[in-house]
Amino acid sequence: MTTHERPVDSVLETIGRTPLVRVQDAPEGVRIYAKLESFNPGASVKDRIGQYMLERMLERGDVSPGGTVIEPTAGNTGIGFAIAAQQLGLDAIFVVPERFSVEKQQLMAALGAEIVNTPTEDGMGGAIERAHELAAELDDAVVPQQFSNPLNVEAHYATTAPEIYEALDGEVGAVVAGCGTAGTLMGLARYALEQDSDTYVGAVEPEGSLYGEVIGEDREENEYKIEGIGTHDPETNELFDPELVDAVYPIADEDAHDELKRLAREEGHLVASSAGAASVAAKRVANEIASGDLAVPHDTVVTIFPDSSERYLSKGIYGSFEEWTS
Ligand code: PMP
Repeated sequence: MTTHERPVDSVLETIGRTPLVRVQDAPEGVRIYAKLESFNPGASVKDRIGQYMLERMLERGDVSPGGTVIEPTAGNTGIGFAIAAQQLGLDAIFVVPERFSVEKQQLMAALGAEIVNTPTEDGMGGAIERAHELAAELDDAVVPQQFSNPLNVEAHYATTAPEIYEALDGEVGAVVAGCGTAGTLMGLARYALEQDSDTYVGAVEPEGSLYGEVIGEDREENEYKIEGIGTHDPETNELFDPELVDAVYPIADEDAHDELKRLAREEGHLVASSAGAASVAAKRVANEIASGDLAVPHDTVVTIFPDSSERYLSKGIYGSFEEWTS
């Protein structure tokens, strides 16, 4: 299921069915598997929601071919939406606060999207507001809003989760994933809990992020360097359902960075900081299982490696911790 053996007509047909690979640095008796989402054509997990959300929105008539998709986004989501929009006959406009990665904006533009920058000081809120203003000015435009649109969760419920269960013949004891919008984890969790309500669900956030508060834990807000996950304002993360989550693991920047470098050096994975954090958390869950502190239906932990380190080379991702964070 992880190979593409037939020729296909469009790059959209290469989205999903990504490899599930064993993480070798695991405690005895517990298997950890990571789904490698950089194998998608836009090199991240967000290609899945780009295709799934736009196809459903076209089917529902939220937008029609020739219309425009407008999303406030700083990164991988723009690339995922840009690929799908282009192949589905939609124009794409992304509203990006100025401070965000130039590499990702170049990729969105290469895919035919228009980039509208908003002032850094207005934050993501300013970008969201501008996206809605632009949509109101155009005839046939839609703002998918990945932070609040249930189709984001559905994309993972319909694709990522069943792929994992098929690959492991249903033998999944715990799912552990980083939360940005939380679309990935919520889709996995919903599917997993339907298969077996005892499946353990672990969320991952950077230290300094506030998801833990949503499940009643204390958190101290701080800046963090890990990219793509975490929140400073949980109210905007409307998809995160604390009822589905057993624990939220806060991971320090330095631990995520050590792990992403180890994954490259020892296991051949060119993955970025959110994957480093996910791997650290998955190993913590695996250790809890191995020591008998955590009872799960199967001694198998599954996590997601969302994107590739190549997108962050200019930020010194493989330098020392000080170089990466400076
Ligand atoms: N890692 C990276 C690099 C991402 O870009 C994202 C998406 N923001 C995530 C993890 C988290 O995915 P989700 O939004 O589904 O929680």
